[in-house]
Amino acid sequence: MPLMSLKEVLADADRRHYGVGAFNVLNIEMLNAIIRAAEEEQAPVILAFAEGHQKYIAMETIAPLMLKAAREATVPVVVHYDHGRQFENIIKIMHYGFTSVMFDGSTLPYEENVRRTQEVVRIARILGVSVEAELGHVGGAEGVPGGEDDPQACYTDVNQAADFVARTGVDALAVAIGTAHGVYRTRPKLDLERLAAIKNRVGIPLVLHGGSGLRDDDFRQAIARGINKINIFTDISLAATRRIIAMLGDKDIPGSAGVVPYQGSDLLEGDFIQNASLTGYQDLMLAVTAAVKEEVKGKIRLFGSNGKVAGPAPPHARQPGRWPSL
Ligand SMILES: [Zn+2]
Repeated sequence: MPLMSLKEVLADADRRHYGVGAFNVLNIEMLNAIIRAAEEEQAPVILAFAEGHQKYIAMETIAPLMLKAAREATVPVVVHYDHGRQFENIIKIMHYGFTSVMFDGSTLPYEENVRRTQEVVRIARILGVSVEAELGHVGGAEGVPGGEDDPQACYTDVNQAADFVARTGVDALAVAIGTAHGVYRTRPKLDLERLAAIKNRVGIPLVLHGGSGLRDDDFRQAIARGINKINIFTDISLAATRRIIAMLGDKDIPGSAGVVPYQGSDLLEGDFIQNASLTGYQDLMLAVTAAVKEEVKGKIRLFGSNGKVAGPAPPHARQPGRWPSL
């Protein structure tokens, strides 16, 4: 299936009132899991790579893999650059073929955010790439606890959002309405009235960052008020960690003397774990893929994007055996 731009995918989500998950990719296991989950749920999906994740894998390494997987998928896939702050990186990733970029000027003074976003939009338009920007600031960093205490966090102003969208022409706007990146220490409270007011004024699809850890009902309420893209990283990261802990907890692994094993059993999930015979890292890779896939499928159903792929699968549908079966 051809790659889709964010604008195309979110236009349908906006029209039919559902959310599309944007899941961060750090390696091939996560990439595999997200694509498989979307195909099984017949859902459009957004593969995201965050600028801040370059310490885990180089953009030059993961970008071609994401694009290849997206092109071979049987569902619409957007390949998105998340939290781009460096102009050079944003231009480079457009050149690689990403169909969507986020320019994050949320910590800049307002006029500077407008000016730099305009610059990115001008170039992206020429290339047919969609642009997401952020106004107000969602605190914290992906996967890191305590984002709700970030002193730089501030709510999106309704009038400023209307001015920003009119002047920049962005395709989607990330809003700050009480969420934070990473793991919550205290339960967040969403400002849903503010969200509805912003949507009413700007009209374009809105984006929720810091979604991991919210209650299911928070997502439903946010989607009902104009959120069409939801960024998820922490929840899939933790799903992978839980599965690894569960697998390793009762195994006597050579060389593991002195490493305290996990004692709990509440995280053991079904036959997959009970029947697994642990032989090495490759088993953890499969376990992580399965755990992330299940987490992503759950989010897809929660956001209502399951079954939203119109028409039959294209003739060049995925070959059996391209990915390990899970
Ligand atoms: Zn974010």
